[in-house]
Amino acid sequence: MPDTTDTAAPYQTIIGLEVHVQLLTKTKLFCSCENRFGAAPNTLTCPVCLGLPGSLPVMNREAFRLAVRAATALNCTIAEFTKWDRKNYFYPDLPKGYQISQFDLPFSEHGQLEAIDPKGAFPPRMVRILRVHLEEDAGKSMHDEAAGTGDSRIDLNRTGTPLLEIVSQPDLRSAAEARCWLNELRLLLVYLGVSDCNMQEGSLRVDANVNLHIPCDGGRVAKTPIVEIKNMNSFRSVERALTYEVARQYEEWQATGKELGSAPKQTRGWDDAAGITRGQRHKEESSDYRYFPEPDLVPVTLTADQIDEVRRGMPESPRALRQRLEETWQISAYDADVLVGQGRALVNYFETLARLVEDGKVASNWMQQDVLRTLNERGIAIADFPVAAEGLATVIGRVKKGDFDTSRGREIFAEMINSGRSADDVISEMGIAAVGDDELMTLCRELVEGNPKIVADVQGGKEQAAAGLIGQAKKKNPNVNPGKVRALCLEIIRGMS
Ligand code: ZN
Ligand code: MN
Repeated sequence: MPDTTDTAAPYQTIIGLEVHVQLLTKTKLFCSCENRFGAAPNTLTCPVCLGLPGSLPVMNREAFRLAVRAATALNCTIAEFTKWDRKNYFYPDLPKGYQISQFDLPFSEHGQLEAIDPKGAFPPRMVRILRVHLEEDAGKSMHDEAAGTGDSRIDLNRTGTPLLEIVSQPDLRSAAEARCWLNELRLLLVYLGVSDCNMQEGSLRVDANVNLHIPCDGGRVAKTPIVEIKNMNSFRSVERALTYEVARQYEEWQATGKELGSAPKQTRGWDDAAGITRGQRHKEESSDYRYFPEPDLVPVTLTADQIDEVRRGMPESPRALRQRLEETWQISAYDADVLVGQGRALVNYFETLARLVEDGKVASNWMQQDVLRTLNERGIAIADFPVAAEGLATVIGRVKKGDFDTSRGREIFAEMINSGRSADDVISEMGIAAVGDDELMTLCRELVEGNPKIVADVQGGKEQAAAGLIGQAKKKNPNVNPGKVRALCLEIIRGMS
């Protein structure tokens, strides 16, 4: 694939991502402990997730259902037969000494998801997905988090949480593409209801593999050693870490000439404060994990009918939704991206509003300027927004009818949000009444008579001078419609000459 993003660079950037996502189940993957973030340490555990002798795991069917739903949306092939494997390693946050995962027969493979930049800085990039598998999460080590005592503690609440591992092919060609792809993936998983993808709480974690392909003399391409970057806690850090690592690898290659295969794969950690990656351990090969089939769990079989049923129940994807909003409501790709990025509930509000006012562009403007601003200011979701789409539609309808102008409409809407009262109540309470035609005509005649200088300017061809009349009209009666005042005054002035 050609490098379309950074043609000036003397190399091509090769990036593959590995994403771990916690599933939104009530209970853990192999026991009935609650799957919940934020509980007191070690209060959500049982013999199964603690790995006590004699305990036996039982698979959570809901976790498997969510996993199949996610993989189907990622266009993966779903296996009719899949099994569990033990991945053995020693670490204090893994009490069993192994993680139940999937090795050679993952439940899904060979999908794809496109990276799309809403600002159009690069063309869409289709990224193949190598595999998606289900596994259990480990616990959490807390190193010296309590008052600098030097202690390390373990919280096993997270142990056994269902985790989806999504591995992409190395198809991404820049740090910016990687960020866009992750945004699309997160949005898709949230729309599917399979995860909340909350990075602060660790529901979504990203590792990135990166190296460079450098064209050399004689048509040879030098490949730098692959580095896996860990410990990135936002998509912004992923982009920064990759940008840093690309520059670092190029410098290192210029200094040492070291190529892929001359050294084992390296893992580097991202230090967000310092803005650099640091070398960590050498990466284990899969043979180091001594994978073998999990003897305590039966394989999972799915029929073609069951797989079809999941496919039929699939909701509209963010990508399809964006395209539909653009076509149905004639809004820009950028506007559709903003609305869809806020989640399905906000899109439903927008569509109700657009239908009622029969104008997608106007509805989209009000959503972005007034509704979204209020949501951000108050830190609330659309579900908690105090005014229903019908209420806002009433205000927009009155603006369109010419009863008052947009800025007056926004004042009314703001008051509806603050007071929770209806549009009609607020309008009558604020003393806003549509100004009658006779009243408006009288007002405009007075204005024209009282402003000979403006009249002369307009007659001399400077129509913009009429703005002075609108300002005066609003002072006399704040409810007048500026457009109507302007049209009427110009009509009177023309009639004079
Ligand atoms: Zn448990
Ligand atoms: Mn994993």
